[in-house]
Amino acid sequence: MIKDFLSKHGDYRSDRSFRELTTIKMGGEIAHYVEPYNIDDLRQIVAFLKANHVPFKTIGNGSNLICGSSRFEGVVISLRHFDNYEINNSTVYVEAGVLAPYFVQQAVKAGLKGLEFAGGIPGTIGGLIYMNAGAYKKEMADIVREVLVLKDDEIVRMQKDELKFRYRYSLFQEHPRWFILAAYLDLEPGNAEESRTIVEDRAKRRRESQPIDMPSAGSCFRNPEGDFAWKLIDGIGYRGHRLGGVEVSTKHSNFLVNTGEGKGEDYLALALDIQEKVKEKYDIKLIMEAEKFNC
Ligand SMILES: Cc1cc2nc3c(=O)[nH]c(=O)nc-3n(C[C@H](O)[C@H](O)[C@H](O)COP(=O)(O)OP(=O)(O)OC[C@H]3O[C@@H](n4cnc5c(N)ncnc54)[C@H](O)[C@@H]3O)c2cc1C
Repeated sequence: MIKDFLSKHGDYRSDRSFRELTTIKMGGEIAHYVEPYNIDDLRQIVAFLKANHVPFKTIGNGSNLICGSSRFEGVVISLRHFDNYEINNSTVYVEAGVLAPYFVQQAVKAGLKGLEFAGGIPGTIGGLIYMNAGAYKKEMADIVREVLVLKDDEIVRMQKDELKFRYRYSLFQEHPRWFILAAYLDLEPGNAEESRTIVEDRAKRRRESQPIDMPSAGSCFRNPEGDFAWKLIDGIGYRGHRLGGVEVSTKHSNFLVNTGEGKGEDYLALALDIQEKVKEKYDIKLIMEAEKFNC
């Protein structure tokens, strides 16, 4: 019955796993996976799932998710078909399923500046807003003006000051059943060549300093006020430390990478061990930035 309903309203599959949907390549099978065709289909799917008490989880590009090995007996919803954007002067409309690195290229081509920081963040626009993702002292809160949200069966426009943005945090983290559908961003007229150079320089810096050739979920921990998580992890001697199939990257010690057969459970056990050692040595509580799900 679930399968029939979902198939009517989107591209449906029953053979997907978090292992293939996340950048860290870990996690169990998924009972139902759907990519709704449009907002109306999404609205009907969500209403149906709520009425039938079926658990569901939205996924963007899976670049911040650590999933457990057990099968998820619910529905994973991807807004992959929400992939339109419009650039009119410096006002930009972009839907949640658009991949940030792709969109940065389009903004740069259009001669707009302000989004260069996101050129190397491998998430969707929806995921970047949810996380208030950022880099190089810039974050989504600096450019988001308004977000279109499916909130409790209603589509509403929410202004930036309603969204409680702070470091790697937004109001959406308090409401996991809301959907970010699209956003209006404020960018500035710039110089395409200069923006392109900034994006390329930063991509080069990432290649030099981050293990982007290994499956990961980016930074494991938030940087504590006035400090860096990688320094604290180095301080406890954990660079290169391994637990099961998960390793503290030798290239960047705030990245925990999957060496092949790593499991979400290994990742979390290693993260917990790091938290305890850092607390013991520095009396600092590291907070996870990567999100755990179904474990
Ligand atoms: C190599 C690498 C480098 C990275 N560098 C950075 C960096 O520099 N800065 C940074 O901040 N992060 C970084 N990250 C982490 C990650 O890319 C970001 O957190 C990103 O914002 C996650 O987006 P996503 O689409 O992959 O979201 P997912 O991981 O798929 O989901 C994350 C959360 O967002 C929710 N979500 C996703 N889309 C929606 C939506 N449309 N509506 C409602 N909820 C939604 C999901 O339910 C989930 O709770 C990096 C990750 C990797 C692998």
